[in-house]
Amino acid sequence: MANRIPVPFASEKVRRLNQNKPCHGEPCLLCDAEIKNPAAAVHVHMTTSLELVPADEELTEEQGSQGCFPVGPECAKKVPRRFWLKW
Ligand SMILES: [Zn+2]
Repeated sequence: MANRIPVPFASEKVRRLNQNKPCHGEPCLLCDAEIKNPAAAVHVHMTTSLELVPADEELTEEQGSQGCFPVGPECAKKVPRRFWLKW
């Protein structure tokens, strides 16, 4: 989809960690570091092919959604705001 962008992972290692994420853990999606201030984190919607889905786009698991993941406040600066989910 043209609207989607690849997840801007901090490193190839973190990308590999997230290729088949077994569960939605608490570390930052982009750098795998602990998020020290969860209230300041943003959440993003990622596909199984490791792309970010714009916040206003619907995507089911059957269509390739891998779910929503937290991104720490520093890493969130690498993610355009249209991908930030509002809670
Ligand atoms: Zn991070």
